[in-house]
Amino acid sequence: MSYTRSRRQQRFAVVWATCPTCGDVELTSKSVQIQTCVTDGTSTYSFVCPTCSLITNKPASPSVVESLSAAGSRLVLWALPAELAEPKRGPVICHDDLLDFHTALETLDWQGELAKSQRAR
Ligand SMILES: [Zn+2]
Repeated sequence: MSYTRSRRQQRFAVVWATCPTCGDVELTSKSVQIQTCVTDGTSTYSFVCPTCSLITNKPASPSVVESLSAAGSRLVLWALPAELAEPKRGPVICHDDLLDFHTALETLDWQGELAKSQRAR
């Protein structure tokens, strides 16, 4: 990792990353974002390829997170939705349920149809 200066004289590291389309591309640490899930401790990093504009997201080991953080990459913390821990009750949603839902959405009164189906349960 080498360092470069932006117009504001702030130091950012030059990092190399691999775009699935273009191969190795040169970025600054400022253009890489780290995402860490506070629920399970896993991390990823992402960047927009400067050549093809594809957004790439890859797993990041703790050492990669530490290096990118130290080099000035932005760290975003997030958590898994609380709904994942909720107990699941009722029957499993099947293909027919999805078709019924799709049909209900096409009606003008889909909200009324949804309320009726909730009362029927
Ligand atoms: Zn690319």
